[in-house]
Amino acid sequence: MNLFRPMFKRAFLYCALVLSAASLAAQDRTLRVNYVFAGNSRESHIYVDDLNVIDGWAGRRVNLKDLYLEGNGQILMTDAGTGDTLYRNAFSTLFQEWQNTEEATRTDCSFENVFLLPMPKAPANVTVTLTDNYNSVVAKLTHQVNPDDILIRPVGQNPPKWSYIHHGGSTSDCIDVVILPEGYTSDQMDKFYKDAETAVSSILSHAPFDRFRDRFNFMAVELPSVQSDASNPKTGDWKNTALASNYSTFYSDRYLTTKRVRQMHDLIAGVPYEHIIILANCDVYGGGGIFNSYTLTTANHKDFKPVVVHEFGHSFGGLADEYFYDDQYEQYYNSQTEPWEPNLTTKVDFSSKWEDMIPEKAGLYEGGGYMSKGVWRGASDCRMRTNACKVFCPVCQRSLERIIRFYTEE
Ligand SMILES: [Zn+2]
Repeated sequence: MNLFRPMFKRAFLYCALVLSAASLAAQDRTLRVNYVFAGNSRESHIYVDDLNVIDGWAGRRVNLKDLYLEGNGQILMTDAGTGDTLYRNAFSTLFQEWQNTEEATRTDCSFENVFLLPMPKAPANVTVTLTDNYNSVVAKLTHQVNPDDILIRPVGQNPPKWSYIHHGGSTSDCIDVVILPEGYTSDQMDKFYKDAETAVSSILSHAPFDRFRDRFNFMAVELPSVQSDASNPKTGDWKNTALASNYSTFYSDRYLTTKRVRQMHDLIAGVPYEHIIILANCDVYGGGGIFNSYTLTTANHKDFKPVVVHEFGHSFGGLADEYFYDDQYEQYYNSQTEPWEPNLTTKVDFSSKWEDMIPEKAGLYEGGGYMSKGVWRGASDCRMRTNACKVFCPVCQRSLERIIRFYTEE
């Protein structure tokens, strides 16, 4: 994981970083790559939609060539001339979740996926891979990006109105999280700002975020919807909202997501963001969090505070759900593969997880990742297991601290 490096190297790199950040600040640009992932339960395909360029770069400026977590997919940018790695990132997708549904056994479907990369200075190859639950690559696409390509459309010249809810420091030093309103009309923007403040204070009150307040920026963006609430297909209540979200994703009542990922990124282009939290102005419990994609949660529910932190644990921290069902028949994890999520183990490679924390700081409790057998978690309760629990378990806390440091320290 490359988290612990000799001090002299850290000092040297810090100096180099300050110099390069200063000299590049004016010309840093973001390459936004828009893809369509498509297929069914047996096939996965990746297609380029188009490319955009945005002034500024809000992503990390350290550990560009490394990954902290593997995710269910990865994006890699290499220099086309030298083959050197320029940038890597990992992610999960709604597409891969859908591939596990019954619907995917009988139809093909496509999903939008958008990634933000530092704009290369010279032609670069971008490779996207999707992996299955056995960590095997099931789809791979490589395409070349020439920064001088006239078809890379500039966007973000007219960003929406936004303001800081929490300002830990400069965009280049901090992790930049944008908070978006879904189903708030222009008359309800005051309520949105209040809800955004509640979300941020809930996150920052949890360890380890409380110790790293100065490494985060949270920004609220004004995106008014024509109608309030979000679409609820079960009751036939379709709404005209900014981000086109709906409950009953994959026919699961409480699963509130949006498939209009491209539209969302278009709406907020020009705002300096890397991570996304969407607050839906809804009373009904629902939401989801997808690693390095977005968190979506409902703001008018009594469990808003714990749930927004839980979902941010997914979308920011890559943490898995630690809850499970006794009657779960679908196998999300298998006994031959160590899951990439840091807070679950199948004991295939427990030493890569929290073996070193046993027995003083953490334990080994069977049940997690929706499965009551064959998957273990590190504590009896955790923010990633129940809304009643007040804290992240020690295993989750340590991983969140490591990912914060990965994004902000050389
Ligand atoms: Zn945990």
